[in-house]
Amino acid sequence: MLLITCPWCGPRAEIEFQYGGEAHIARPADPVALDDAAWADHLFMRKNPKGKHRERWMHRSGCRRWFNMERDTISHEITAVYRIGTTVPGKEGT
Ligand SMILES: [Zn+2]
Repeated sequence: MLLITCPWCGPRAEIEFQYGGEAHIARPADPVALDDAAWADHLFMRKNPKGKHRERWMHRSGCRRWFNMERDTISHEITAVYRIGTTVPGKEGT
């Protein structure tokens, strides 16, 4: 089980959280200009890397706020937890 540190509540058990998918997905600047394939790609296609991955999580059984987390998908090591709208700690500009 993971021990996840909510940016507002502190360390809590994984069971209190809900996974929300890949983080940092930018909405297309002009969605109307996209064809069906490009729109479907935006809506449904996500990275599935082995290694570090930035994800959205929600503290479902706590403050119910969303935040981002950088986690290794192989080892499950959590290397960063940060609020939405901020950058990865120590990796400004990413
Ligand atoms: Zn919380």
